[in-house]
Amino acid sequence: MIHEYISYGFDSNVFVIENSKTILVDAGTGMTDSLNRFINSFKIDLVINTHCHIDHVGGDPMNVPIAIGEKDAEDLERGTEKTIFDFVLPFFRGFKVSKRLKDGDIIECGDYRLEVLHTPGHTNGSICLYDEAKKIIFSGDTFFIGGIGRTDLPSGNIEDLRRSLERLAKLDIEKVYPGHGEVGKCDINKILDFWF
Ligand SMILES: [Zn+2]
Repeated sequence: MIHEYISYGFDSNVFVIENSKTILVDAGTGMTDSLNRFINSFKIDLVINTHCHIDHVGGDPMNVPIAIGEKDAEDLERGTEKTIFDFVLPFFRGFKVSKRLKDGDIIECGDYRLEVLHTPGHTNGSICLYDEAKKIIFSGDTFFIGGIGRTDLPSGNIEDLRRSLERLAKLDIEKVYPGHGEVGKCDINKILDFWF
């Protein structure tokens, strides 16, 4: 099953896929007690970060393998300006990355089969996780229910985002687990019509 922590503050949404193993998808800022308690209530086997922004990675638990798109991996390890929020950088300890995810990589978890889709635009290393059989996608900040992620931050690119969305619009998706806002159904073609 998928446990949801929907954030109404600065944190990203956080999801826990619990099956043959327990996978944490994004982790918030690490500065919100209720969210940290939510994460700590699971025995996490693997963390997957959809991208390197601090509101998604700050709460990554210690001593758990972390996977992230290959183009955001170095930023997560070193803490570059790409992780955003300059006020945090002096304290940013960086996180060791165990797996640098590439487009087409598959992460199995019981009957979940998550395909890594490299979807640059919000950051150049952003990924989505798509389960074709279950018709679900973890979209990070690439898109939300009725919206798109910012493209004005370091390594963001509006043309890349358009191409990523055009690719995603071809997929059969019934439920979106976005990085911010509510979980639900979303017509990516309507987003494309509106924003591009
Ligand atoms: Zn972001």
